[in-house]
Amino acid sequence: MTKQKLTCPACSCFCDDIEVDIIDGRIKSIDNACLKGSSLIFRTGEKNERTSCMIQGLDAKPEQAINEAAKILLNSKNPILFGFDHSTTEAQLAGIELAQELGGKIDDFSSFSYGNIAGQLINKTIPTCSISEMDSVNLFVYWGANPLHSHPRHLSNFSYYASSGYSEISTFRTVDLCTIDIRKNETALMSNPFYRLRPKDDANFALSVCRGLSNNEENKKARDFYTLLNASSSTVIFLGTGLIASMGEEISPLLEMVDNLALDIKIVPMIDQPNMRGFNQTLHKITGSVNKVDFAGDTSENKAISFFQNIIEKKVDSILIFGADPFYRMPLQILKHLKQIPIITVDPFITDTTKASQVVICPSVSGVESEGKVIRMDGEEIHLPAPCPTDRLSDVQILKLILEKVKA
Ligand code: SF4
Repeated sequence: MTKQKLTCPACSCFCDDIEVDIIDGRIKSIDNACLKGSSLIFRTGEKNERTSCMIQGLDAKPEQAINEAAKILLNSKNPILFGFDHSTTEAQLAGIELAQELGGKIDDFSSFSYGNIAGQLINKTIPTCSISEMDSVNLFVYWGANPLHSHPRHLSNFSYYASSGYSEISTFRTVDLCTIDIRKNETALMSNPFYRLRPKDDANFALSVCRGLSNNEENKKARDFYTLLNASSSTVIFLGTGLIASMGEEISPLLEMVDNLALDIKIVPMIDQPNMRGFNQTLHKITGSVNKVDFAGDTSENKAISFFQNIIEKKVDSILIFGADPFYRMPLQILKHLKQIPIITVDPFITDTTKASQVVICPSVSGVESEGKVIRMDGEEIHLPAPCPTDRLSDVQILKLILEKVKA
């Protein structure tokens, strides 16, 4: 039995203190990971849940599936590549090169969530900080986020419980935990204060906080939050998908609030897909856009439309899905548009999308079976080691082989 270190690839926290016991190449026990992380790591050893390479539902060798994928993409006039948020940064780069070579489109889930925010973080128009710069923070605010569910070790590894200001004895505590949400979720139950908002009221709330004490006679919550922010010498607001659903991707009322208050307030996105920031940053370096790029047109103008919009408008004739399961989330009206389009899926696990694909390619699991780099939610680059190497091809190897065939 060998004990090895592992960096959990299951969410954008990328906890690097995980230890696994390995017997005969299989993980037998896991220390430190949460349930979400453990279940992904243990799943790598579950043969019934892993994909095998297939063409039209029949078993194929990896080379055959890769050849077939290249053939479909080459025969297509309007291919789109989608996903990549669970891939290593190296694979994301290879995917972008492939889309470029094909003159096709590329997009990820950020075009429905954190895309604009990722762009503003890259352009440094949002005040932010890395987790290693949070030592002096004395107020953590989760706005539209429920980390106990989405990023289970976030509080204990990165924020409230990890703070030097935290004490079991509340009178000695010099750090506060606040939640703003439309529901009294698990994180709200531990927070003091918790501000419960009406659905879609986040923008009004932020603008009321901007107005301070004097003009908020009727909005007690906004007055309280304004007072709380002013009493804190350093605040981090963790921005969740609930806030984006309510305010939209622009989040301008929140930015206006932070700007007007002129306090030490930083914003960190609670990215849900593990390496979404990696995709946004890698694509931005090459094209100046964080998502929705069409290499058939002028990429500097960024007039491309999202993956789902491309499907609805019937603008694509082949799809390469990389480490994503859009069939799981897709409304039926969009699914019906997909029936005539050949789909190639690269995913280590069986999903609704792999079941609907003409070609399936089975990669290793990055961070368990193959190594690579990723970008954590706070923008820090993290290396994923590979404690259980396998002879399956890694995500980047698969893309490079498809790229070679397309170029040949
Ligand atoms: S919090 Fe996220 S990265 Fe950390 S162990 Fe849990 S799932 Fe893995």
